[in-house]
Amino acid sequence: MKKTLCKIFLLSVAIGMLGQPIVSQAKENVVVMIDPGHGGTNLGANPTGYVEKDMTLITALAMKEELEKYQGVSVYLTRNSDVELSLQDRAQMAKNVNADFLYSLHYNMSANHVFYGAEIWAQSMGTNYAKGYSQGQLLLSEFITVNDIFSRGVKVKVGKSGNEYYGILRYASKLDLPAVIVEHCHLDQAFDAEHFNTVDKLKQFGRSDATAVAKYFGLASTSLKVDYSHYPKPNIEPPTQPKTQDLTPPELATLQVTEVDSVNKTVSIQINATDRDTGIMYYSYSTDGGATFEPLQIWPSATDTLTIRVSAKFGQNRSAIAAVFNCYDGMALSSPVNY
Ligand SMILES: [Zn+2]
Repeated sequence: MKKTLCKIFLLSVAIGMLGQPIVSQAKENVVVMIDPGHGGTNLGANPTGYVEKDMTLITALAMKEELEKYQGVSVYLTRNSDVELSLQDRAQMAKNVNADFLYSLHYNMSANHVFYGAEIWAQSMGTNYAKGYSQGQLLLSEFITVNDIFSRGVKVKVGKSGNEYYGILRYASKLDLPAVIVEHCHLDQAFDAEHFNTVDKLKQFGRSDATAVAKYFGLASTSLKVDYSHYPKPNIEPPTQPKTQDLTPPELATLQVTEVDSVNKTVSIQINATDRDTGIMYYSYSTDGGATFEPLQIWPSATDTLTIRVSAKFGQNRSAIAAVFNCYDGMALSSPVNY
């Protein structure tokens, strides 16, 4: 429930918020385990035309190929074909090669098919949190600048038992292994649709993953003509207490109708919204009393107030309602206001 959990729109801003960057220094040999999520009978997300287990494998193979262009890194895959593996096995395979980091690659969907963007799930405790948060920011920075994907931030999720909610992170933690889950984008929302619809775009995600890993570990590549050995990665202090997710919805969502144009069928609305824990991430509105809502829009960072002119339905129920969401998908609705 910390403000620093979300909304990493610009790396420079995040670095400013989170402390001085530290210069990456490559150790003798870095060992990376890439885990293409799902496999075998475990398809993962499978909206029409796509199967997540196949997409993660394409991305993982491209990530490995790109990363192997750097010196001083050994790259392993938990699977390089369509086989089924338990989450425990995947973490153990990383431990067996003494991996410095485990990257579990995924593509996302949401229950109501409304959310979009990339997100990184990090472990919630100690140095693993610090490493995951730093690496996660570098991954999201690549997705924003190279893949043109909206960032939903680096996040943690703790289960009822107090352990990591996500199995691969839980097993990795038991083995004292830093790990992140990389959710590249959402497969079920129009906003992200054009960013994963070709094999090359799936490979581009893998190349972005590799660049972020190279920046994190301070790697250099003769063939790519890049040297990240002095790259300023975000320096995150290990938290003294475990981090937890934001369990509360935004605490404020109000709407005012400031202008009505019945000729052009538009209304001007002002939305006020706050979420002290993690900030507001998306908003939507209805002009028919909540019967239908518009697709989610990105809430401008660092503001509590948004004024927009929108097309209105001018139907039987002439009332407007705002909906706002934080990065953990917590939602708050305004009261309806007649126009
Ligand atoms: Zn998945």
